[in-house]
Amino acid sequence: MNSTTVKESEKTCVLCCQDIDIFALGKCDHPVCYRCSTKMRVLCDQKYCAVCREELDKVVFVKKLKTFQSLPYQQFPFEKRYDIYFIDEMTHSQYRRLLLSECVRCPEPKVFSRFEELEQHMRKQHELFCCKLCSKHLKIFSYERKWYNRKELARHRAHGDPDDTSHRGHPLCKFCDERYLDNDELLKHLRRDHYFCHFCDADGSQEYYSDYRYLSEHFRESHYLCEEGRCATEQFTHAFRSEIDYKAHKAAAHSKNRAEARQNRHIDLQFNYAPRQQRRNDGMVGGEDYEETRHNRGGRGRLQMGQKSWRYSRLAIIQKRAPLVILKPSRL
Ligand SMILES: [Zn+2]
Ligand SMILES: [Zn+2]
Ligand SMILES: [Zn+2]
Ligand SMILES: [Zn+2]
Ligand SMILES: [Zn+2]
Ligand SMILES: [Zn+2]
Ligand SMILES: [Zn+2]
Repeated sequence: MNSTTVKESEKTCVLCCQDIDIFALGKCDHPVCYRCSTKMRVLCDQKYCAVCREELDKVVFVKKLKTFQSLPYQQFPFEKRYDIYFIDEMTHSQYRRLLLSECVRCPEPKVFSRFEELEQHMRKQHELFCCKLCSKHLKIFSYERKWYNRKELARHRAHGDPDDTSHRGHPLCKFCDERYLDNDELLKHLRRDHYFCHFCDADGSQEYYSDYRYLSEHFRESHYLCEEGRCATEQFTHAFRSEIDYKAHKAAAHSKNRAEARQNRHIDLQFNYAPRQQRRNDGMVGGEDYEETRHNRGGRGRLQMGQKSWRYSRLAIIQKRAPLVILKPSRL
């Protein structure tokens, strides 16, 4: 590659589509901008090339594009932890600037080494907050974070931001009254911490139950539930999909007549149900998010914590208007 004839396509970062002011280059000679490279290596702990996915043990940040081989990077200043080398001190300091947490409101520059310190400053000095869910999950630079006042934060959590149509808010678990990053995270939580019918689930149903009591009601209504003897305290294993299964179980497990039981033993063998993994029964615990508390407006606003069941649907979650959210005054 000739350093004086940089191809037009190489002046634009393939990841963020911005013009590249500082190139990040590894041994495969696929340049990306230094912001994207820093984001990958420092924030996401990923060292592969975004173009060819080759693992880059080191990258060099340069202002003019050259071949990686032609760079005497061993003599350059570098960040050992992330294996990033810098063509000069200017480039190194521009890299460091990316990672600073600086207040965007103070007239005088106010810089913090940790994002948590900036967060505290914003809260105390400017009464501005960032979204806990976004800051936990989104790997972006401090300067890219959004700051909200209380009202805006509530709107962001429930509906998203007016200037960002790609995000429609963080979906709510109606049992816990707690929000999750996106629908995938919410679904993971529903499957881990609440209950669903393993028969209907296999048929593609998306119905969830806050606790086992409600699921067993469903078993009783829609399937076959044995509540005799030991089965009264069982979970999952005492529910049957068909009447045949149910009757076979009855005969094998609860028949008083030993002869009858022996006769039915061959049926029993076919219906050997393994117990499902016991789920954590915390569907009734109110998980109030951080400093968010819900306002009860004549019983309409607040969701019932003991809500029986809830059909999960991606569309419903996005379109459903969440109850009014108010924030407690900060005590920090
Ligand atoms: Zn980029
Ligand atoms: Zn590459
Ligand atoms: Zn400030
Ligand atoms: Zn958020
Ligand atoms: Zn929940
Ligand atoms: Zn079912
Ligand atoms: Zn039984």
